[in-house]
Amino acid sequence: MKTNTLLLFVSFILVLTFSSFTEKKNNSTNKFVVVLDAGHGGKDPGNMGNGYKEKDIALKVVLSIGKALEKNPNIEVVYTRKSDEFIDLFVRGKIANKAKADLFVSVHCDSHTSQAYGAGTFVLGLHRNNTNFEVAKKENSVILMEDNYHQNYAGYDPNSPESAISIMMGMEDYLDQSIQVASLIQKNFVGKLKRKDRSVKQAGFIVLHQTVMPSVLVELGFLTNKKEGAYLNSKKGQQDMATSITDAILEYKKSIEQNVAHVHFEDEVLDIPNAKDEVYNDITFKIQIAASSKSLETKAYNFKGLRDISKEKIGSLYKYYYGATSNYTRVKQLEAEAQNKGYKSSYIVAFKNGKKISLSEALKR
Ligand SMILES: [Zn+2]
Repeated sequence: MKTNTLLLFVSFILVLTFSSFTEKKNNSTNKFVVVLDAGHGGKDPGNMGNGYKEKDIALKVVLSIGKALEKNPNIEVVYTRKSDEFIDLFVRGKIANKAKADLFVSVHCDSHTSQAYGAGTFVLGLHRNNTNFEVAKKENSVILMEDNYHQNYAGYDPNSPESAISIMMGMEDYLDQSIQVASLIQKNFVGKLKRKDRSVKQAGFIVLHQTVMPSVLVELGFLTNKKEGAYLNSKKGQQDMATSITDAILEYKKSIEQNVAHVHFEDEVLDIPNAKDEVYNDITFKIQIAASSKSLETKAYNFKGLRDISKEKIGSLYKYYYGATSNYTRVKQLEAEAQNKGYKSSYIVAFKNGKKISLSEALKR
């Protein structure tokens, strides 16, 4: 792997992330903002399995989802495109970040040389196998059609698995919520529509990486499959799939509003180990468990029973931390506790004089 390329790409992402934080909030309402992203468009038709056009099917499904969601006065729908036009991937992310969206849903159709079929939903992550990488590669390769893609993605190469892996670094904040949305979508595809379940999977999609909110990418099915292609190209198929996604979005909205208040918690007795050599006097370690545009009370019932939660506002985003200690041994235990509670992507962060510093810097004597 070229370290330069990786560093460049990561810095590009950081710049993108922070520039979105500093933008003035233009969504002053308390509406739940959903960004709907129809894949491809314009000079990029997407896949053309059986002669069907991915870009058209994705757009029709997205417009249908939007139309249904807009009936709800508490929801604001933002589209990355409403017509047949080419939109750069990084611009799609920018639109979502600027809208301070609560959720980003990208809609696509898959293709394969076999008669593979079925519906799947992706969240950003490390592709654990080659099949998932191939899906991300197909969707990411659109940047090769963009002007200045070398500049905009800092030399990122969609054909390299290593390059795709690098885009994961540090961006797992919304994984839990993204997985929740993806699971609800799959539940409807499979339960209501009896589509073949290709499940919730992780892969390195650039478009998901550009957003700072829970984000999913739906592969409605395979246009290359004779039967499924015809279904997805039909009005009924598009309506069915759109309704499934709409219902899942509404269900997700409801669940985050309820804030999982029913989760019970036990009083925990914290046993402090006496590992003196692991204490860093001027450093405070915490576990970052979540980041959200929503301000939640730091009550245990909002955090799966975890107590000692603190929050910090950075730009438009609230970061939530568990625990606070100068003892590195202790913070590793706290990290394990957070992960056991379900915060699978939580991690240790370090502060010096109230300022966040890198963990490696903190651990320097
Ligand atoms: Zn696509």
